[in-house]
Amino acid sequence: MSLTVRTRIAPSPTGFLHLGTARTALYSWAYARHYGGKFVLRIEDTDVARSTQDSVQQILDSMQWLGLNYDEGPVYQMQRLARYHAVAEAMIDAGTAYRCYCTPQELDDMREAQRARGEKTHYDRRWRPMPGKRLPPPPESVQPVVRFCNPEDGIVSWNDLVKGPINISNHEVDDLIILRPAQADAPAGSLGVPTYNFAVVVDDWDMSITHVFRGDEHINNTPWQINIFRALGAPLPQFGHCPIILGDDGQKLSKRRGAVSVTAYEEAGYLPEAMLNYLARLGWSHGDDEIFSVGQMVQWFDGSHLAKSPAQWDPAKLAWVNSHYIKQADDSRLAALVQAQLASRGVAASDLAQLAQASALFKDRCSTIVELADWLAMYFVPVAATEAELQAHVADAVRPALQSLRDALATAPWDKAGIAAAMKQTMAAHGLKMPQLAPAVRVLVCGRAQTPSIDAVLALFARDMVLTRLQHV
Ligand code: GLU
Repeated sequence: MSLTVRTRIAPSPTGFLHLGTARTALYSWAYARHYGGKFVLRIEDTDVARSTQDSVQQILDSMQWLGLNYDEGPVYQMQRLARYHAVAEAMIDAGTAYRCYCTPQELDDMREAQRARGEKTHYDRRWRPMPGKRLPPPPESVQPVVRFCNPEDGIVSWNDLVKGPINISNHEVDDLIILRPAQADAPAGSLGVPTYNFAVVVDDWDMSITHVFRGDEHINNTPWQINIFRALGAPLPQFGHCPIILGDDGQKLSKRRGAVSVTAYEEAGYLPEAMLNYLARLGWSHGDDEIFSVGQMVQWFDGSHLAKSPAQWDPAKLAWVNSHYIKQADDSRLAALVQAQLASRGVAASDLAQLAQASALFKDRCSTIVELADWLAMYFVPVAATEAELQAHVADAVRPALQSLRDALATAPWDKAGIAAAMKQTMAAHGLKMPQLAPAVRVLVCGRAQTPSIDAVLALFARDMVLTRLQHV
């Protein structure tokens, strides 16, 4: 490939970073990295009423958390108004755009009349200059919009990187508004804020974007964009429209059906590499590979094998992928994550070495950091086994043995071997076996009847805490 690949992700800061956008960001990023190109972050903040600084921050944080580093940006569209205005003016001069002075009332009446005639509603191009057409003088009381002169005939075709050939007739496509009206009190001739379809083209052109990956809800916008690129004499990028992600109920993944933001998964204790691995597979494949690093993905991600049909969000599979990465993760990294998770619950756990050892012991049975913290919390806060568990495991027959064990542990060397020896000695003295003594100890000290090897689990407690908990017999 001779041209430099340049991709971008262009989220609108009207909320958190959606999983669908994160997946497109990953594809755009991996594609650029695969071909040694550049990846740009652009913030599409022209929906002034709905865009917030808070959302911008969430998007930046999520990109950073995922490790999707960008080479340029963030570029903010609202800082580029002068550029959109200049391009729109040039288009008006060139006859590829025009001012339209229709009031909202006129547009309503227009649509009403079309409906009454049984027509599909559309803008009737009444302000579009045409050879031999006489336009009325512009009304002074109306701030005009600027519309694009979409070709009236012909077909817009492109070979979509994901969906293959797509053809849409220009009969389906109106004269799109490219600039909204200026503020009511702005001086005559002022220009307003660009619409998405216009700003996106000017930006993709100015940023020399070569490949656009985005959600397939934008397929219907693409003919407008291609026509505007052509009107500007700008080179066309290649488009790849990824299918939407479905929830496990087969409906579009949405907030009502569960977490859809990257932030929510971070908070729920997923690791970024697990999210990347899972998102990558949700619409792309490399043979039967399910677990792969982001580096491998970059090696493999050449734009082929993108799925044409929607993938379904599968929480169980994500949990499985996450548990794989938790098992692999460095214990000191897990310790820091658990520490933060416990801190968010108001639990102070300052000994990172202890947390790391405990993480090593418990990580095999956890699919999220939250679950790991649920386990490790017992080292810092009182536990309360259920009445049923107490009855089932702390039977009268075992109580005297628990008392002896407590005595033995009071002086035993405080390590795994010392604790194991104390248990062995207690069992021998009371004629008990491990399956009788260990669950009772677990229920009292850990609040649960099942844990990894009890001597290892106890060794990570402070001795006094174990003695106190065993006392509640
Ligand atoms: N701001 C648009 C979105 O978030 C960008 C679409 C595009 O990539 O062109 O959907």
